[in-house]
Amino acid sequence: MNNHMTDYSSDCIFCKIIQGKLPARKVYEDDLTMAFWDANPTSPIHILIVPKTHIPTLNDVAQDDTLMCRIGQAAQKIAKDFGVAESGYRLFINVNRGGGQVVFHLHAHLVAGNDVGTFFIKAAIGTAILWRKLVSFVKGPKR
Ligand code: AMP
Ligand code: ZN
Repeated sequence: MNNHMTDYSSDCIFCKIIQGKLPARKVYEDDLTMAFWDANPTSPIHILIVPKTHIPTLNDVAQDDTLMCRIGQAAQKIAKDFGVAESGYRLFINVNRGGGQVVFHLHAHLVAGNDVGTFFIKAAIGTAILWRKLVSFVKGPKR
């Protein structure tokens, strides 16, 4: 069931994008959802999937609303279109400030490819291992 009417918030950037008042690189649209490129991608593919109506967070989606199912179906199609359905992708939602949410219009991130976040984590771990090896080399063999 879909309980919501199309409703916009005047100070919401994603509502402005949906209404065509702000530019975005749109990649997908259906009656309930729209998807566009994240303005600051953290991966080679970084798409945001949003409901066409203003819903601030995941917590505001009604229990009997099929919206999240529709966002999942949109993600399936987008992943297929971008050729990452089989190779793999991540789909995640940040909820409220503690969950890293910055834009308060519900959105799912679809990210794929060489994830910059993962790259930095791997680089940090690699540096720590090298540093430990260097320190033990300088200290010499344990007696
Ligand atoms: P979140 O932290 O989950 O709220 O993510 C908000 C995302 O929206 C960030 O990844 C931003 O880069 C992205 N973003 C902010 N403004 C725009 C915009 N005008 N068009 C596309 N993406 C945007
Ligand atoms: Zn909005």
